[in-house]
Amino acid sequence: MSTPTLRDPVFTLTSGPVDAYPAVLRGLSRTIHYDYDPVFLAFYERVNEKAQAAMRLSTPPVILHGEPVLGLEAAAASLIARDDVVLNLASGVYGKGFGFWAKRHCAELVEIEVPYNETIDPDAVAAMLKARPDIRIVSVCHHDTPSGTINPVEAIGRIVAEHGGWLIVDAVSSFGGMDVHAEDCHADIFVTGPNKCLGGAPGLSLLGVSDRAWTKMKANPDAPRASMLSILDWEQAWRRDRPFPFTPSVAEINGLDAALDQYLAEGPEVVWARHALTARACRAGLQAMGLALWPAREEIASPTTTAVRVPDGVADADLRRAARERYGVTFSSGRGETLGKLVRIGHMGPTAQPLYAVVAISALGGALGALGHAVDIGRGVAAAMAAIDAAG
Ligand SMILES: *Cc1c(COP(=O)(O)O)cnc(C)c1O
Repeated sequence: MSTPTLRDPVFTLTSGPVDAYPAVLRGLSRTIHYDYDPVFLAFYERVNEKAQAAMRLSTPPVILHGEPVLGLEAAAASLIARDDVVLNLASGVYGKGFGFWAKRHCAELVEIEVPYNETIDPDAVAAMLKARPDIRIVSVCHHDTPSGTINPVEAIGRIVAEHGGWLIVDAVSSFGGMDVHAEDCHADIFVTGPNKCLGGAPGLSLLGVSDRAWTKMKANPDAPRASMLSILDWEQAWRRDRPFPFTPSVAEINGLDAALDQYLAEGPEVVWARHALTARACRAGLQAMGLALWPAREEIASPTTTAVRVPDGVADADLRRAARERYGVTFSSGRGETLGKLVRIGHMGPTAQPLYAVVAISALGGALGALGHAVDIGRGVAAAMAAIDAAG
């Protein structure tokens, strides 16, 4: 096999991990302190406070030291007890995937599954909880990234709270890019991370944990303790006068601190607005070029990822390769069931800037043309610019 010439991409327009903010790169280059140095202990507490402020939590979050799959798997292992019935809501690859973790720990797994270009109907959740009063835990993925769709977690959360259940929310690829917070959706465990909309590096999980989730985990004899999968071990670890269960990822904490500063200083509402506008401009441009969005309806399309159907006769891998080789633009593929059917354009952190919609449309349009599926790039760019200019 010949070795291709490897050059760095010019634009990484993926749906995570993302190209980090320059301030995050500078943060990552800070001193690697000894974890029990008083400077690091105070810094760790301060980073936790910033994460709590960003996540708008009334109690301290938990930082786990592995990319957000660790947080999700730890949530399943810690909250779910062996006699629990779990309702998993699956509208995509991540939502479905959580069910496989849940199944390892629960007595019975019940699922509501919808086509992966659709979202969960809260009424269906209410009906299921009525039919199965023994359901104790509900799990849902807010933004199922491989589909680019947003589930109505606040409405689902209200229903689960009324039922008296516990809710696990995967908000890994939406938190920081739109208005979604653990307590607004009555989440008992809310999982996110720095490597999507916060424009940080992969390597940490951020968890919002409710008081009743702590109570349930502590009562669960199967909840991991003295383990990499443990949430319980880290309950007090944010305090400078408490020990760490094991060495935290010092460099990643340095990077997270910079990502949180960026988010809080710019202002969350401002950050969400540029995510939303970039996505809106992108959708307008793609549709003006005659391409079809993957989500069944535009109202459910994510502000942090735009998933576009690959036209018939075009192979998605060829399309992404052409965009990468000709223009230096990296897009994300689908995953699992959506692999091959769509291409994803990420609008996360530093790439949630409206003009990147023009870059994405130009590169995707050019790549389609190179594969013999010519589209009107000029129309796409004009539509994207019109959407940007309409926002003033
Ligand atoms: C990115 C992401 C995760 C973390 O998983 P990786 O694929 O390992 O990065 C979890 N959930 C969602 C919805 C994500 O987008």
